[in-house]
Amino acid sequence: MRVTRTVEIAVIGAGVVGLATALRLASDGREVLLIDPNEPGSGASFGNAGTLAEYACMPVGNPAVLRALPKLLLDADSPFSLRWTALLHLAPWLLRFVRQSLPAATHANAVAMAGLLADSLPAWEEMAVEADATDLLRRNGCLYLYRRPGDLAGGASSRALRAEFGVDQAVLNPSEVAALEPNLPAVQGGGLFFPQSMNLTDPQTMMARLLKAAAGRGAALLRGEVTGLRADAGGVDLSGPGGLSLRAHKVVIATGAFSRPLAAQAGDRIPLETERGYHLEFATPAPVLTRPVCPVDLGFYMTPMAGRLRVAGTVELGRLASAPNPRRLALLDRGVRQFFPTLGQPSSKWLGFRPSLPDSRPVIGPSPGNANVIYAFGHGHLGLTLSAVTARLVGDLIAGRRPNSERLAPFAAGRF
Ligand SMILES: Cc1cc2nc3c(=O)[nH]c(=O)nc-3n(C[C@H](O)[C@H](O)[C@H](O)COP(=O)(O)OP(=O)(O)OC[C@H]3O[C@@H](n4cnc5c(N)ncnc54)[C@H](O)[C@@H]3O)c2cc1C
Repeated sequence: MRVTRTVEIAVIGAGVVGLATALRLASDGREVLLIDPNEPGSGASFGNAGTLAEYACMPVGNPAVLRALPKLLLDADSPFSLRWTALLHLAPWLLRFVRQSLPAATHANAVAMAGLLADSLPAWEEMAVEADATDLLRRNGCLYLYRRPGDLAGGASSRALRAEFGVDQAVLNPSEVAALEPNLPAVQGGGLFFPQSMNLTDPQTMMARLLKAAAGRGAALLRGEVTGLRADAGGVDLSGPGGLSLRAHKVVIATGAFSRPLAAQAGDRIPLETERGYHLEFATPAPVLTRPVCPVDLGFYMTPMAGRLRVAGTVELGRLASAPNPRRLALLDRGVRQFFPTLGQPSSKWLGFRPSLPDSRPVIGPSPGNANVIYAFGHGHLGLTLSAVTARLVGDLIAGRRPNSERLAPFAAGRF
C-alpha cells in the first residue's frame, strides 16, 4: 500500500462520539486526525431528540418488550416496528435480541449501562466547558407522560430498576404534570420526572462547537471515507477512495451504525445493526415546552430546541440502505398533534440510524486481536448521552491513565 501520511491517532467518524473523542485526545496533547466523508455531526448525531438521559438504564431488550414483541412487530404503526423486507437480514440480530431480553440478561445489561450513565452528565458538563458550549446545555429535567390511567403502573419494573441504581425520579400526579408543563393537554395517568436530566438546545450547533474546540487544540479533519483497514503490530494502515492512504499508530473506530465492515477487517464480527428513527420539526415562535417530554406509549420525545419543537424517536428495524418510510413520519405527525393540534407544517423531516447491539451496550475498548484498533461505537439510543464518557474512557485507555480493563469489560468487542 502507498502510505502518504503518518499520524499518531486517526479517529474514523465525526459523529458525536468521534468528535468528543477527538476533543478528549487533542486536549491530552495527542496528534489527532478525524476522518469523515460527510459534514461532521451530520449523521445520527444531527437529528436526535437531544436528551442527555442519565436515567435510561433499562435496556431496549427487556422482558416487557419481549412480551409485547409479536404485537409490536406486526403493527407497522407501533413505536417498535419491523420492515418485513429486512427480516431475513435481521433474523440473527433479532434472535440475539430476544435472548438479551430475558430477565437475567436484561439485569446484567442494565448494571453495565447504569455504570456508564452514572458518569454521563459530569462528563458532559466537563466537555461543554472545554467546547465553550455550556449555553447549549439545558438543565431542566425530563418528563415521561402516562396518558391513560394504569399506564404508570405498567412502568413499575423500570422504576424499580432505576431505583436500584439510585436514579433520581419522581412520580407525578396529573395536576403536578400540568404545573410543570402548562401547555400540555391534561393527562390521566400522570408522569415521571427526572430532575437531573439535561438536554441540548441545538445538537447541530453543539457538534460544530465540539469540532471547533478539537480543531483549536490541534485536531485536523480529513474529508474521506475509510474502506480499507489493515492492522499490524506497529500500527494501522487505512485506505479509501480518492487516494486516501495513511498509517496511524492507533485508530479509533467511531463510525456509528456503519462500523461493522471496519471492525470485520480488524478480525471482529460484531452483531451491529441499526434501529432507524425519525424526526419532524415545527417552527414555534415561542417555546411550547420547557423540557423534553416523552409520551411513553408513543415512543418519541418532544424536545423544545432553538426556535422549534423537535419530535424525534420511534424504532424501525430495517437496513441502512432502505428508503425513508413516509408512514413512520406520518405516525410522528399524528402523535404530536394529539398534544399540539395547531402546529403548522413540519419545517424538517429526517431519518437517522442508531448504531444498535442486541444487548444495548456499546462496544468500547481495544480489538481483541490488535490493541492499536480501538472501538467506540454501538451506543444505540444513548450515543449523545454517552459520548463524553466514552471519550473519557478512550482517552484514559490510550494514555494508560488508570486501569480500565474492569471498567471496559462489559463493553468488550469479544463478548459476542
Ligand atoms: C430519532 C433518534 C433520536 C435519538 N435521540 C437520542 C437522545 O435523545 N439522546 C441520546 O443520547 N441519543 C439519542 N439518539 C441516538 C444517538 O443519536 C446516536 O447513538 C449517536 O448519534 C451515535 O453517534 P455516533 O457518533 O456513533 O454516530 P453518527 O452520528 O452516525 O456518526 C458516525 C459518523 O461516521 C461517519 N462514517 C461512517 N462510515 C464511515 C467511513 N467508512 N469512513 C469515515 N467516516 C465514516 C459518518 O459519516 C458519520 O458522520 C437518537 C437517535 C435517533 C435516530
